Amino acid sequence: MVEHERYDVIVVGMGAAGSSAVYQLARRGSKVLGIDQYEPPHTLGSTHGETRITRQAIGEGDHYTPLSLRSYEIFREMEALTGEHLLDVTGGLMISSPGATGVNAVANFFETTLAAAKKHSIPHEVLSVDQMRRRFPQFRVQDNEIGYYEVESGILKPEACVRAALGLAEKSGAVLKVNEKMSTFSEDASGVIIETDKGTYCADKLVLTVGPWLPQIVGAELQGRFKVFRQVLFWFDISENYDRFKLGNFPIFIWDGQGNRDSIYGFPAVDGEQGGIKIASEEYITQVTPENVERSVSQEEIDRMYEKQIVPCFPGVGRECVKSAVCMYTMTPDSGFVIDFMPGSSRTIVCSPCSGHGFKHSAAVGECVAELAIDGKTRLNIEPLRIDRRALVKA
Ligand SMILES: Cc1cc2nc3c(=O)[nH]c(=O)nc-3n(C[C@H](O)[C@H](O)[C@H](O)COP(=O)(O)OP(=O)(O)OC[C@H]3O[C@@H](n4cnc5c(N)ncnc54)[C@H](O)[C@@H]3O)c2cc1C
Repeated sequence: MVEHERYDVIVVGMGAAGSSAVYQLARRGSKVLGIDQYEPPHTLGSTHGETRITRQAIGEGDHYTPLSLRSYEIFREMEALTGEHLLDVTGGLMISSPGATGVNAVANFFETTLAAAKKHSIPHEVLSVDQMRRRFPQFRVQDNEIGYYEVESGILKPEACVRAALGLAEKSGAVLKVNEKMSTFSEDASGVIIETDKGTYCADKLVLTVGPWLPQIVGAELQGRFKVFRQVLFWFDISENYDRFKLGNFPIFIWDGQGNRDSIYGFPAVDGEQGGIKIASEEYITQVTPENVERSVSQEEIDRMYEKQIVPCFPGVGRECVKSAVCMYTMTPDSGFVIDFMPGSSRTIVCSPCSGHGFKHSAAVGECVAELAIDGKTRLNIEPLRIDRRALVKA
């Protein structure tokens, strides 16, 4: 009989969630193997680029706030351990209005954010429209809008975070294999076995953190619970008052849509005067796969974004799009994550922390995955993230 390499845990996919899981497993002393079909961080999944918003009071649901707060701690620890700069605190402005369209396909985003801030004593201010106009003249707010300003919101550097987590994982003894693709996985009473294009490996537990490849991997019964949508990011040039948009002078923002305008979010100008500011909306119409997604951005898309979202909102932002990029959201029907064993399994964990808001939580998500794999339970409450929750089963 052929002997295969045997591990305590195999993690397939080392993007935001997988790199964090590998690190958290290794630091707890597990014999862990991480595998990725590419060489993370790479540009083909959901984790590429220089910026992801982080915030503490989470409007997507009260159960996410503890994950975010724990992630702040872990990212700060990772900075201390590696000397890498991973998190910039910029402050965050959330703008909303009565009847707003919602953020991340979640209704009541603003109200849930405010309630979470109060419940968890997160430093914040509620701003009237006049206060917003005085303090943040970069935004053309409407008379019916209200603001929530969170002091500790900011920007995570996703690729640097992935690099740091993988480096720390290796230092703690993890075996990392890149440019190696898992083709099949199975399990029996003695463990899990995975086949890749380069070998066969066994373990007690398997973690699938495969991002937008998840629907193809989890099988027919579960794949309908995860839909992948193309998203476009735009960097528009700053036509006047560059100083007002610089890191330090401009907050990250999330602006609830109203009327003809969609919800948008964005960042300070982190790439200097010529780099523009990154602004995006969200799209939940065209389902894609990582293989067939259109990765170029058309002039028509740029024009539409400028006319519909930039002109009404930002007096100092110009028409020229200096850069654009395409990324993918893996969405569940309730826009929530999944961190759970596959139905009927006590060995294979599915982890999908996306739905457009997963990066900020990824450090704590990796910790939850490690605890679930090692202890079968987690310190933070991940009950609302079960794979068999009602919203996912009835979809
Ligand atoms: C445009 C955009 C903007 C976003 N903005 C924010 C934000 O501001 N704040 C925030 O908190 N979150 C944000 N998110 C969400 C966040 O980026 C994602 O939740 C997170 O990056 C998802 O990471 P992941 O590990 O699940 O997936 P990925 O990073 O895609 O990782 C999956 C990995 O699995 C590997 N893989 C897949 N199949 C196999 C296989 N068969 N064998 C081996 N390896 C395999 C892939 O190569 C890949 O490396 C945004 C997402 C997008 C797309």
